[in-house]
Amino acid sequence: MAVQYKDYYKILDVPKSATVKEIKSAYRKLARKWHPDVNPNKKKEAEEKFKEIAEAYEVLGDPQKRKTYDTLGPDWQSRAQTPPPGYGQWPGGAGGQSVHFENGDFEDAGFSDFFQAFFGNIGRDAGGATTAGNVRRGQRGMRGQDVESELHLSLREAYSGGPRSLSLQTQTACPRCHGTGSDNGKLCHQCRGTGTVAAQRTLDVTIPAGVRDGQRIRLAGQGGPGLGGGQNGDLYMIVRIGHDPVFERRGDDLYLEHPVSVYTLVLGGEITVPTLTGQIDVKVPPGSQNGRTLRVTGKGMPRVGSGGGFGDLYVRLAAQVPTNLTDAERDLFKQLAELAKAR
Ligand SMILES: [Zn+2]
Repeated sequence: MAVQYKDYYKILDVPKSATVKEIKSAYRKLARKWHPDVNPNKKKEAEEKFKEIAEAYEVLGDPQKRKTYDTLGPDWQSRAQTPPPGYGQWPGGAGGQSVHFENGDFEDAGFSDFFQAFFGNIGRDAGGATTAGNVRRGQRGMRGQDVESELHLSLREAYSGGPRSLSLQTQTACPRCHGTGSDNGKLCHQCRGTGTVAAQRTLDVTIPAGVRDGQRIRLAGQGGPGLGGGQNGDLYMIVRIGHDPVFERRGDDLYLEHPVSVYTLVLGGEITVPTLTGQIDVKVPPGSQNGRTLRVTGKGMPRVGSGGGFGDLYVRLAAQVPTNLTDAERDLFKQLAELAKAR
């Protein structure tokens, strides 16, 4: 491909560090100056200039296209791998001769060979990316992006796991151009040539019981759409488990603080404590100190991916000191205090 690199920054006369606002204002200024209608004496030159400016703005004014353009740079041809045979043979063709401006400024302005080559083939993968992900080139076409999304669960949902329907915002192949970015030889305006559009999708996933906060669940082929016959990327659901008002989780174990009367602490007895599967009775040994922790085996979280089993539940006893005593109760406590002194 003997295609001349175009310096879009030079065309718009802005520095490489220019902000979106600066680029927009530079474009507006130049577009006004070079609009063919205001240059009747040098219409041909104005048309050429105007096209060039529009093309530069199409790239620099679009953060994704600009990123691709900046990343590949002047030696873009050597940096991008040679597309495999058949790569450019998408319906509609890889490079149309003209584009359509939605703003109606200039109908059917042809973009340069450079633009067609750059964004028609190599640059298209960068379009429509929602999150950081790797783009790998497969045997055929271009593999879609890996996409990450958060999956928010309560501790109880993490405990039981199981099937769940998720609704999420993803990128999908543009229905108008079928992911080619080109519509009857024109830049597809539904996806602005990127080949992908945002879509709401519902996915059925199975959450492993006992899943941990920060764990990634991979959904193969549910990421960004592949292009030119390439495989879809993968979707990674990152599990985020919300704070639970009752239980604190440490690994597969659960911790809980539970009130106990001083009578039970002194004399021993049973308390009823919650677990993630209902209430259970726990024996309190006589003479238990305030803050003592009792272990209930197997009442923690399911151990995910390690041969099954469950963690433990730790119940920390919190003494409840009686208040608003009746006269009779106060007398009895006084007697106890006297007896303790005499020991
Ligand atoms: Zn499209």
